[in-house]
Amino acid sequence: MNTPIHALPPSAQQPPHVPKYVYRFGAQGTEGGAGMKDVLGGKGANLAEMCRLGLPVPAGFTISTEACALSTRDGAGVLLAAIEAEVRAGLAHIEAEMGKRFGDANDPLLLSVRSGARASMPGMMDTILNLGLNDAAVIGLGRKAGNERFAWDAYRRFIQMYGDVVMGLKPTSKEDSDPFEVVIDRVKAHKGVKLDTDLDTTDLQELVQGFKALIRARIGRDFPTDPWEQLRGAVLAVFESWHNERAVVYRQLNDIPESWGTAVNVQAMVFGNRGEHSATGVAFSRDAGTGEDLFNGEFLVNAQGEDVVAGIRTPQQITLIGSRRWAELAQVDEVERQARYPSLEELMPTIFQALLQAETLLENHFKDMQDMEFTIQEGKLWMLQTRNGKRTGAAMVRIAMEMLAQGLIDEPTALLRVTPDRLNDLLHPVFEPAALQAARPIARGLPASPGAATGQVVFFADEAEAWAKGERGDGRADGRAVILVRQETSPEDLRGMSVAQGILTARGGMTSHAAVVARGMGKCCISGAGAVQVDLKARTMRIGALTWHEGDWISLNGSTGEVFDGRIPTRAVFESDLSGDLAALMALADRHRRLAVRANADTPQDALVARRLGATGIGLCRTEHMFFQGDRIRAVREMILADDEAGRRKALAQLLPMQRSDFDGLFRAMAGLPVTIRLLDPPLHEFLPHDEAGQQAMARQMRLPIAQIRQRVEALHEFNPMLGHRGCRLGISFPEITEMQARAVFEAALNVQAEGLAVEPEVMIPLVGTLREFSLQADLVHRVAAQVFAEQGAKVAYRVGSMIETPRAALVADRIAQGAEFFSFGTNDLTQMTLGFSRDDAGSFLPAYLHHGIYEHDPFRSIDQEGVGQLVALAARQGRATRPDLSLGVCGEHGGDPASITFFHRAGLDYVSCSPFRVPIARLAAAQAAVIEASSE
Ligand code: PEP
Ligand code: MG
Repeated sequence: MNTPIHALPPSAQQPPHVPKYVYRFGAQGTEGGAGMKDVLGGKGANLAEMCRLGLPVPAGFTISTEACALSTRDGAGVLLAAIEAEVRAGLAHIEAEMGKRFGDANDPLLLSVRSGARASMPGMMDTILNLGLNDAAVIGLGRKAGNERFAWDAYRRFIQMYGDVVMGLKPTSKEDSDPFEVVIDRVKAHKGVKLDTDLDTTDLQELVQGFKALIRARIGRDFPTDPWEQLRGAVLAVFESWHNERAVVYRQLNDIPESWGTAVNVQAMVFGNRGEHSATGVAFSRDAGTGEDLFNGEFLVNAQGEDVVAGIRTPQQITLIGSRRWAELAQVDEVERQARYPSLEELMPTIFQALLQAETLLENHFKDMQDMEFTIQEGKLWMLQTRNGKRTGAAMVRIAMEMLAQGLIDEPTALLRVTPDRLNDLLHPVFEPAALQAARPIARGLPASPGAATGQVVFFADEAEAWAKGERGDGRADGRAVILVRQETSPEDLRGMSVAQGILTARGGMTSHAAVVARGMGKCCISGAGAVQVDLKARTMRIGALTWHEGDWISLNGSTGEVFDGRIPTRAVFESDLSGDLAALMALADRHRRLAVRANADTPQDALVARRLGATGIGLCRTEHMFFQGDRIRAVREMILADDEAGRRKALAQLLPMQRSDFDGLFRAMAGLPVTIRLLDPPLHEFLPHDEAGQQAMARQMRLPIAQIRQRVEALHEFNPMLGHRGCRLGISFPEITEMQARAVFEAALNVQAEGLAVEPEVMIPLVGTLREFSLQADLVHRVAAQVFAEQGAKVAYRVGSMIETPRAALVADRIAQGAEFFSFGTNDLTQMTLGFSRDDAGSFLPAYLHHGIYEHDPFRSIDQEGVGQLVALAARQGRATRPDLSLGVCGEHGGDPASITFFHRAGLDYVSCSPFRVPIARLAAAQAAVIEASSE
């Protein structure tokens, strides 16, 4: 009887899957390629690719990332059994290609063993060089090289690395010195020399003996002399280093999954320290700092790779032009340059040409700027690594645009080459790099608003103003650079903030007042620096045991959240209209994006900056910010203190012309573009002073008894102001406020229209939860509009819309859209209310939440797509179901966050609105969202 096919054992139906763990590369056979980064890691994949391109790469093999997973899952024994035959075959391949044998006492093949994950993790895992040496091989190596010292130096370096990485001989505590360095220091002291290079062959032999004795004494085992055993140990150690603390932390910071694992690259050693015709170096196909299309790099003659990094010797430049530029900066004259620091181009012209050809080939092949490592051994060039180079924001932009112009990449690729957030580098001041190198951070907070700032500490907003204007108490009249240091800021601090170089707060998160306002101003700000203790009475700031007084200098890096002691000079990177490559990139982004980008701007100056940076309208003007300017606060306070409607109307009448002129300015600055003006939002108590001195000053100014002020402050006190009497609830209680603001909007619109400019006012009602709530306010606005138009005999087209910032509003969006002509998602409040996280207090527990992975990102910075995002998508759908032409935007801080922008694009919104300085970032992020969507269709 025939056995039915489905009854056969699996092996009879199909050939068994034979796992492959080892992939060879070299001139005589390469199994991998650049497309196999998942299996071979970045380094291994690119080594294989270089071989395929015919470049000179020392032969080797890569043990796959799958083997790493196997070793983690099943342990070292299973791994070694699984890969042994393949590794031996790989070794045979290297031996054949290099014409040497592993373990040969006369002419030994030596190996390097290096990690290489899918994403580059510089310095996080371990490397072992010169593997294969032992007491016999070192003699053969020295004889063959005609250089005994070289061989013994290689041997002692090998024992040192192997002893540390594989055998685990490390300092016993963090205060302890490296035990191998202790032996080196002893030998140097005995000999009376300072540098390792002063040690001769006999000294190095003594070191080798010393190292071995150290290992025996501390580990209780001998250093392995069998090369095969050495190799096994090294491979396992590299796999294990995937789990070391450095690597784990790096992965967490860079969102690299643990499951990826690392590959191991085993490769024939080549030596840059074999004399005057040997060298080692790094090269870049373009300038990583500026992006200039200029081949550049550094090298050292007669040296090993780590010598270039260690910075003991001054490296030489690869190209002649680079060498001349360097000499100018280093103030080295041409005669000395030629004698002591000649370029590779001058010193080894044939090798230079080969390297130049390699870099051109690699850049054209990978179509991106390459960062390469090479070694020259006795007149022969070897390529050891190539990868896409890390670069500054400015370089990202320039390289993308130039490669596009050169036809190397297409438009979507050029857009995707620039990380939107890195455009910050081009828009904000930066520290002088040399000065920054010497500086050490004294505290850290949240990088609330990017840029670099240096100035003298002041603790009060009014003093910040006085100091900045040059009106110090000591009569000195020089305008000062100040850093405003506060426990937290409030709207009252606005003017002080605007004149400060930077703002530092001890409390508050990424959407705290200080953070939002600073970003809007494009001003450097660090918030929530918990270690900073502010003592307002003593006018001091303490961090640990150290104290800074008013007037002391500190510096802030708002891009990293680092606070530095002292003065670090800064320089402006961007001061005018967008130009050059950045302007070209923006034009390209505009051609590809679907989302419009508006700005959150409260003043004509902000609006002009936003417009220069490419905003096509204002998506949010927070009118309350205008209430603090000049002596308006007095009229605002009169309104708050008034006993009845008549009193409030009187005070509001004083405010009307001021608001009107504010809006005049905004409409002019944004002529031809929509301007969304939001009705008053914050609780009224924010406009009153809460401290005794402030209340006294107010009493004096308004000629009122202080008791009356105190009583009002107490009456307005709320336990949860964010859920209290604010937003449209103010306008419902005090319709006269809404009336005044609406009148100011329409009168200003007509004024500016009369000047011949096009105006597009949009009035926005905040914190709406029900249609009725919206309609009550909207009806009022329409009534005032009709009145103003009748009074002036002129009209202007306008729209009235709703913020969607309470979860209820999102849930009943179909109803709200019956009245609202547009929606603007206030994702700050929407996040606060959906998550139940206070915007101002979340800083105390958010770090723990992020640490435990409860949320992946700060939900106030990047939208919680799973939760809040659902509400946005739902409201967008429901709103459009009611009103198909409903315009949809976002004006919360998420409007400037690239990941959130991608989400808003997919949710079908029309625009995002963000701080003026984030407008270019949002334009690019919107374009990236569009090209990614197009490529997946
Ligand atoms: C919001 O809540 O997202 C918003 C833009 O309003 P505000 O930040 O002023 O509360
Ligand atoms: Mg809000």
